[in-house]
Amino acid sequence: MSNHEIGHVMDIAIKGILDLYDEGAFSAATARKLIKTNLRLVAGYDGNTYEALETMAYTHCGNCLKKYAQGEKFIVEAEAHDCITPEDKLDRTWWDNVTDKTEYIGASLCMDCFQKIFKDALPEATKERIMKEASRTSEDNPGTSYLW
Ligand SMILES: [Zn+2]
Repeated sequence: MSNHEIGHVMDIAIKGILDLYDEGAFSAATARKLIKTNLRLVAGYDGNTYEALETMAYTHCGNCLKKYAQGEKFIVEAEAHDCITPEDKLDRTWWDNVTDKTEYIGASLCMDCFQKIFKDALPEATKERIMKEASRTSEDNPGTSYLW
């Protein structure tokens, strides 16, 4: 059984790191290191990293760490997976195979980073389908699965 508490606690901690990053308290490299440490803790305590990224998925790009503007469209990783059809002939690791070679640490990508990172990794039609069907804005944020 996985530990849901650690993911939820670290979701709050990562939100705090990103709030400070937005205020200019430290560099993107430092923010990335702090978030990575938190994600390692989640994994080390049998948690689910997606739970620790619930808030970040709808607030910041997992690659360049920019904060999404109101109404700005971005690609949510979980939604992108739902866009893949058997005809795409991709296995379940298609997203990780590509993003593992980048600085990606979150659960969503801004449009610029998505297009840059997946430029040669996906056929044009697949990318267009993902950009049409997996794009969300911060207004679509379903909120966190925990209450406190
Ligand atoms: Zn980005």
